[in-house]
Amino acid sequence: MRDSILYFTRLKEFYGQHMESFLEKDSFFREKALQLREAISKTKKAYIEHGSFEFCRVCAQKGVRCCGEGLEWKLRPEEFFINLYLSRLEERDLKLEDRRAQDCLFLGEFGCILILTPLFCRNFFCKELSEFLGHKGLVHLQNVIQDEAELTFKLCEYLKKKFPRILTL
Ligand code: SF4
Ligand code: SF4
Repeated sequence: MRDSILYFTRLKEFYGQHMESFLEKDSFFREKALQLREAISKTKKAYIEHGSFEFCRVCAQKGVRCCGEGLEWKLRPEEFFINLYLSRLEERDLKLEDRRAQDCLFLGEFGCILILTPLFCRNFFCKELSEFLGHKGLVHLQNVIQDEAELTFKLCEYLKKKFPRILTL
């Protein structure tokens, strides 16, 4: 079993023991998390409209491995906790499974299992995708991502302030 599954399983336990019940009663966190959920939907819509997801889907079908092993480490603990919170809002469990060793831990059968992906993934546009989107499309998507990025930053900072132990995990 790889280190990352042990690590994120430990974070999941920490969340259940120390954070979940507190955050469920925290109206500030809830309000910002709902705004973030909205911002993520807006980003996804823009990616769909620009054909980005479809372009990557076809690329993946050709066997290109974009979500490779180790990229799960790009997700910070705070972002993982936000994912657990958002998954709970949608009444789904963020299941950690060691599917294929050569893939990112978060790559599921139908793509990324995270609701909030790491900033690295959100900002990754390979040469082919950049050319497909063109300068205008690329700038537009990078602008759309801003709301999501700012709200994520706010929520992460809030979590670190409320749960300083996160910094030692
Ligand atoms: S980002 Fe580039 S390499 Fe990755 S799936 Fe999309 S087109 Fe393929
Ligand atoms: S998009 Fe998701 S599955 Fe792909 S590398 Fe990023 S975290 Fe992993």
